[in-house]
Amino acid sequence: MNNNKYTTTNATPPLRGGREGCERLAILGAGESGVGAAYLAQQQGYDVFVSDFGSIADKYKQQLQQWNIHFEENQHTEAEILNAVEVIKSPGIPEKAPLIKKLRAQGTPVISEIEFAGRYTKATIIGITGSNGKTTTSSLTYEILKHGGLNVGLAGNIGKSFAYQVATEQFDYYVLELSSFMLDDMYRFRVNIAVLLNITPDHLDRYDYQLDKYAASKFRIAQNQTADDYFIYCADDAETLRGMAGRSLGAQLLPFSIEKQVNPGAYLDQQNIIIHTPNEEFQMATNDLGLQGKHNTYNSMASGIVGKVLQLRNQTVRESMGEFKGIEHRLEAVGQIGGISFINDSKATNVNSTWFALESMTAKVVLILGGVDKGNDYNMLKSLVKDKVKAIVCLGKDNRRIHEAFDDEVDMVVNTTSATEAVTAAYHLASKGDTVLLSPACASFDLFKNYEDRGQQFKDAVKQL
Ligand code: ADP
Repeated sequence: MNNNKYTTTNATPPLRGGREGCERLAILGAGESGVGAAYLAQQQGYDVFVSDFGSIADKYKQQLQQWNIHFEENQHTEAEILNAVEVIKSPGIPEKAPLIKKLRAQGTPVISEIEFAGRYTKATIIGITGSNGKTTTSSLTYEILKHGGLNVGLAGNIGKSFAYQVATEQFDYYVLELSSFMLDDMYRFRVNIAVLLNITPDHLDRYDYQLDKYAASKFRIAQNQTADDYFIYCADDAETLRGMAGRSLGAQLLPFSIEKQVNPGAYLDQQNIIIHTPNEEFQMATNDLGLQGKHNTYNSMASGIVGKVLQLRNQTVRESMGEFKGIEHRLEAVGQIGGISFINDSKATNVNSTWFALESMTAKVVLILGGVDKGNDYNMLKSLVKDKVKAIVCLGKDNRRIHEAFDDEVDMVVNTTSATEAVTAAYHLASKGDTVLLSPACASFDLFKNYEDRGQQFKDAVKQL
């Protein structure tokens, strides 16, 4: 591929604004993306107003003050917002919020920070989405591109916001981790190389409990792609294939699969990953991958295809895929105590990620499970649990559904309400050679601030043993 041939729609001039006009741009939500968007909007000459219905973290308040950006917290003053020519909304704010409904009713465009920032960069965009594996694959892809000598930034749901980086950096490439909420408010943004890892039920509360609507949101990643672009997807994922069958995708298709040979694309031949892109061929032994487990083979394949589409040297791609050891809270090895291994997979907030975590376990497991259940169907875990799990430690305020699902399958299912209690119980239930796996299949906010806090408390508790 000739990297220079992209003429991105993203670099078309903004629809409105400009210094002379000083039009009002309202930003709802003052988190990382909102504050970054505010900075970029101010730089582009808009009259910016930031409004957060909750309280704003000190760090962001200080930034807004320092940049002289007008903001409010704990309220939305409608008179300051409804007069905006355009509104940028945080991915966390749902469509059904009354203010969003009002804006839609009066025809004010409501967009995401990604859509906005995309107007001000000519960089080649690599967008990565899926129900699981986004952060891992985005980070690995970023490492591959950086190691390949490209001038690349990493943004989206990760690190510094895309908008802030567009305002302050001059990257030629961006790897963007894109959640479905971010994709929902993207309209003209063009992703040059799109990766759709998988589609499994998650966040269905925001999609009227309809998987089709959630899948449609994921496919927005491909909505402005042309024949110069690439769509990389998992050919083993039934829901992705179903979604593709009903759509016409403009990009060149590059599948990856563990189950069958695909060419072009990536597949497994014995214990080797083979990648064919239009002009290139690549091979690497799965044993040499830094990230182990079936789910990570998928993630590595997707990242490897991106590297080869960009024609990076095989040696460079191999080195990055070999050296990348994963990120905190994703199947993170915490250490061994008394011959028992402890693994922190706190980021597993749905059943599907827990399935992959269990699938990759080679020893008997004491599984720490539970938290806020987003409508989990535990049936899909049953056969792996029967095979590998000797005890379940519930870590949540309400563990009824876990008991209903597993009391007949596992000898011991015990309740705990703190990381320390859970780790102590798991340690006593495990024997030498076993693994204690925190892979909760649930969100964390009943007992913890977020999944990072849950993972950190788990690691601290292991150190205290
Ligand atoms: P995301 O950013 O999409 O939430 P992460 O990369 O943070 O995904 O991984 C979250 C969890 O999902 C991991 O702890 C792992 O258990 C699981 N996981 C990672 N990659 C995949 C994949 N390709 N398919 C299924 N599960 C995965």
